[in-house]
Amino acid sequence: MRFISTRGLAEPLGFSDAVATGLAPDGGLFLPETLPDLSAQWAQWAGLGYAELCYEFIKLFATDISPDTLREIVRKSYQHFDHAQTAPLVALDSSTYVLELFHGPTLAFKDFAMQLLGNLYEHQCAQRGESINVLGATSGDTGAAAIHALLGKPGTAIFILYPDGRVSPLQERQMTCTGADNVFALAIDGSFDDAQAALKTIFGDTAFRLKNRLSAVNSINLARVLAQCVYYLYAWLQLPSEARERAEFVVPTGNFGNVLAGWLLRRMGVPIPGFKVATNQNDILYRLFTTGEYRVAEVQPSLAPSMDIQVASNFERFLYYQLGSDAAKVREVMAACAKDGVYRFEDFDRSAFSASRCTDAEIPEIIARVRRRYGYLVDPHTACAFKELSPEKVSVVLATASPTKFPETIGEAIGAEPKHPRLEVLGKLPIVKHRLPASVKAITDFVEAHAV
Ligand SMILES: *Cc1c(COP(=O)(O)O)cnc(C)c1O
Repeated sequence: MRFISTRGLAEPLGFSDAVATGLAPDGGLFLPETLPDLSAQWAQWAGLGYAELCYEFIKLFATDISPDTLREIVRKSYQHFDHAQTAPLVALDSSTYVLELFHGPTLAFKDFAMQLLGNLYEHQCAQRGESINVLGATSGDTGAAAIHALLGKPGTAIFILYPDGRVSPLQERQMTCTGADNVFALAIDGSFDDAQAALKTIFGDTAFRLKNRLSAVNSINLARVLAQCVYYLYAWLQLPSEARERAEFVVPTGNFGNVLAGWLLRRMGVPIPGFKVATNQNDILYRLFTTGEYRVAEVQPSLAPSMDIQVASNFERFLYYQLGSDAAKVREVMAACAKDGVYRFEDFDRSAFSASRCTDAEIPEIIARVRRRYGYLVDPHTACAFKELSPEKVSVVLATASPTKFPETIGEAIGAEPKHPRLEVLGKLPIVKHRLPASVKAITDFVEAHAV
């Protein structure tokens, strides 16, 4: 199978090259040239374990990796999850389910995609006899998930920039207490935007990028989106058939990567009726799906920080299909969005989506309400999804992080702080971080000195 860019000006690539490249050279995002039709196939996958199901699904796309190798890559990717079902589906009542996506190494859903991506990178390094240096910036969860995907892997090093003093103490510990000598947590004297701006300049320097075999980890990597399709399918296969007809996946949303994966699965012929895009107070996507207008706004930091976004980077993939797979039109709309910060969609099919938004004031209230009603504890991101469940639907809420990662907010909501044994252990390990000014030169010097 080959992968094309949403902007149509890049050479189509095979799976491994598209994964290694990340962002297409024309600035677009990779998508399969044609989507497989699973309508006659999905039901045969009922009863498979998580890793087996993932293998069957990814095999349809990763046609340049031998089946045995791929099976092993997938098996390794889910071995560090601490629940036998990997992504357990929990019934709260007959019309409310929670899909727990927080049993991976960093206790948030990004592990599902990042663990797979890490093992794909490792395989590529071994196969090509090359090393790879991963460079990224994080305001929290992505960096920790990336670090735990690559730590200790031969032929790789990972450098994660984060704003010093502006990520949660737990998130910082997840990045800095690994003890792995191929992990470099770079605490930048500046904001997340400063770190991101430096990163952009560094990746724009082609000579530096090629010399140091730099690769990015961001939510637009094709492998991440495909890995995320799998848990929708896994949950779908477990739903009773009468529940399927009224099912709505309710997804705490930031960059649109997670919910896009579910929607792609629907496009491949799995008859999921609909999705709810649940945002926090950074509600660009809520406004889009309720008004048809995409308007960029300032980020307001919130209690659900991994959903604090200004532009929804994965939205471009959805747009591509919305515009009838017309890459020229995608370029036009993306240029208009970049120039004016706003775009009004005329004919825009929103039929598969509903939307909700949740303010910071509501988050602790919702956590307390869900606890009272179902005896179930949700983290601040998942709380946004519980804002308003549709009574006529069967809701499958994606729980994107463990409540134990957010003890302060949970404490405020219910008067007690949850604990996780793995996070307790972290508190006793030494922090290893490298403080750097937010200057491109300081960062590139550091990377050159430590690259593998
Ligand atoms: C990243 C993240 C989200 C948002 O996911 P997107 O794919 O960006 O929409 C939601 N919740 C948590 C806990 C996250 O880490």
